[in-house]
Amino acid sequence: MTNRNYDELLDRARGRIPKDISERSRWTMPEPDIMIEGSQTILRNFSDIVDAMDRDANHVFQYLLNELGTSGSREQVRIMLKGRVPPKRIKEKIVAYVKTYILCGECKAPDTRFLREGRTTLLKCQACGATRPVRL
Ligand SMILES: [Zn+2]
Repeated sequence: MTNRNYDELLDRARGRIPKDISERSRWTMPEPDIMIEGSQTILRNFSDIVDAMDRDANHVFQYLLNELGTSGSREQVRIMLKGRVPPKRIKEKIVAYVKTYILCGECKAPDTRFLREGRTTLLKCQACGATRPVRL
């Protein structure tokens, strides 16, 4: 997947964010910097990506491991995955995470927070106030 495709996927995920919201949140994601080294795959700017997401690093890490069906370890700024994982798959999973755990279901704004309500976790949009349940 080229950088251009990645941006397109993200743009599609962002969908039709009202212009004032998308400009207010000024939301951008760094391009994943992925390197395959021997029998492992390294996402070198994991912490930059998580910072942009404003989500718990361990949650993002565990999601990627589950979705990619591999194990790995997390270091300061990067994560190492066992096996040679195609960069395209990693990028797709990052975009999937954004869709599942970040974007508002109503207005598609990325300006959301998790909200615990009993046993349920809701994703609450700071822009339009909409909530939707998420499974953590
Ligand atoms: Zn919203």
